[in-house]
Amino acid sequence: MQCRCCMFEVENGKASCPVCGFPTLGGISSEHQSIIDEYRTNKLKNISIDILAYRYSIDGSGGITEYDSEYIKLAEALSLTYGEVLWVDDKFESFEANRSIVLDISICKGDVRKECRVDLVPGEPVDCSGFGIYLDRGFIIKLAVGDKNKYHLTESISLIDI
Ligand SMILES: [Zn+2]
Repeated sequence: MQCRCCMFEVENGKASCPVCGFPTLGGISSEHQSIIDEYRTNKLKNISIDILAYRYSIDGSGGITEYDSEYIKLAEALSLTYGEVLWVDDKFESFEANRSIVLDISICKGDVRKECRVDLVPGEPVDCSGFGIYLDRGFIIKLAVGDKNKYHLTESISLIDI
C-alpha cells in the first residue's frame, strides 16, 4: 500500500512507513487530512535544497582556474509537490551538454548540510537552460535539467536521511 504521507510503496503488513514513519493502519477520514499535512510539514520543514555553483576564469597561460564556488538555494522542501517538477528561476548560464553532467547538491536542515554529487546521464544532448526539482515517492528528489517541455532527471537524493 502507498504511504499517505510520503507516497512510498509500503510492503503489506507493515504498521508504519519505513521512510517517514507515518502509520499505514487504520483509516483516516478526509477531515483528518490535516493530520497528514501536519506530519508532512514537520518532516520537511527547515529543509532546503542548494546547488553548488562554480565560477571559472582563464589564467595567463590560457588554462582554466576555478576561482569561486558557493551554494545557491534552489528551493525549500515544503514547496515541493509529489509527482511534479518545481522549476526554479534560472540563475545559471545556459549551456548545451552532450556528455554526462555532475551536479553538487546539498540538502540542508538547520546547521546540518548533506552534500551529494549526482550524475545526469541523458544519452543525448541536453539544453541546460533551466533547473527544477522533482519530488518522487518516499521524500526522494531528482534534479530536472532542461525546460518544462523536455527535461532529464538525475539520480535520487533523499530529503530526510540527514
Ligand atoms: Zn511515508
